[in-house]
Amino acid sequence: MTETRIWLSPPDVGELERKLLLEAFDSNWVAPVGPDLDAFEAQVAEIVGVRHAVALSSGTAALHLALVAAGVRRGDTVLVPSFTFAATANAVMYLGARPVFLDSTTASWNVDPALVVEELKRRCAKGRPPRAVIAVDMYGQCADYGPLVDACDRYGVALIEDAAEALGASYAGKPAGSFGLAGVLSFNGNKIITTGGGGMLVTDDDGVARRARHLSTQAREPFPHYEHRSVGYNYRLSNLLAAVGRGQLQRLDSMIAARRETGHFYRAALGDLPGVTFMPIAEYGRANYWLTCLLIDPERFGASRDRVLERLAAHAIEARPTWKPMHLQPVFRDCVMRGGDVCADLFRRGLCLPSGSALTEHDRERVATAVRAVAAEANA
Ligand SMILES: *Cc1c(COP(=O)(O)O)cnc(C)c1O
Repeated sequence: MTETRIWLSPPDVGELERKLLLEAFDSNWVAPVGPDLDAFEAQVAEIVGVRHAVALSSGTAALHLALVAAGVRRGDTVLVPSFTFAATANAVMYLGARPVFLDSTTASWNVDPALVVEELKRRCAKGRPPRAVIAVDMYGQCADYGPLVDACDRYGVALIEDAAEALGASYAGKPAGSFGLAGVLSFNGNKIITTGGGGMLVTDDDGVARRARHLSTQAREPFPHYEHRSVGYNYRLSNLLAAVGRGQLQRLDSMIAARRETGHFYRAALGDLPGVTFMPIAEYGRANYWLTCLLIDPERFGASRDRVLERLAAHAIEARPTWKPMHLQPVFRDCVMRGGDVCADLFRRGLCLPSGSALTEHDRERVATAVRAVAAEANA
């Protein structure tokens, strides 16, 4: 019997998105400007609770422009969590700056605030502060912004929030994306909402928003002819894709509720297995449960993380290892790393389970049954 494939986090789009997309198409706003783009930006700004949102072609583009706005230049250093997706560190490299990688805390898997404080202190004492700190909201859970914001304020260093995975999450009641100088969202196909590729820079700072908007449209000066005073980029989101995003936003709450329910389901269905521990959800905020991730202790579970992945694949279930830390990536081999045991262990033992918002009850039963079967086999 062939089973239908269960994906990790596939796009969840339907009639509403289709209708809005076709309306935009038929209105002939087939350009990176238009009423859907304006409306999409206004709606995201409201959800994130900030004054400005600039829709861009990707989350990576938003990270790039946020770093430009923070003044990052060639030769600068930027503090970056090692446990993240490569885009976070790549954006630093685009500017000829150097990431300094920091380890995670086991409390939330996000960057360890104590390491950020220590590194800021050390570098500022030497008169060489980093130009910026990037915090990442891993798997839809905010980093610990209390100590992070305090430390960045104290040392006068810009904080950038990579909330690519965290739209709809919050920290102490404040929405993800609203911390620091600028926040970054992604609308890639696997994220909480998708435009089939896209991102946004969100900020309360008028200057940062103006600069990002200007640079994202080739840095054209307001002249009748083409006049340029800085190097620009072609980073604007298309109005057509913004129409899809507007549809997704109407369903944001229910899509997050579905992912949260899946997270609770897996915890109830698998939490009793020996050697299984789920990503801790910190008391300080509300996660959006983008992906449900767990750790497998091979001794107690009776099988390795890779064995579980293999068995799930055999049942046509797409699961993935957690992010491979940046300090273990060949491309970043020469970068400085502070600590590293925590995120190396999260990578060695970590597993992300199918968590899409359109996952059915039957699908998640299939996933849980397959995981339990590996444990049963190992202990037979
Ligand atoms: C997805 C992601 C990005 C990049 O977003 P794109 O829209 O794919 O460019 C950046 N950071 C993190 C943590 C992500 O998960």
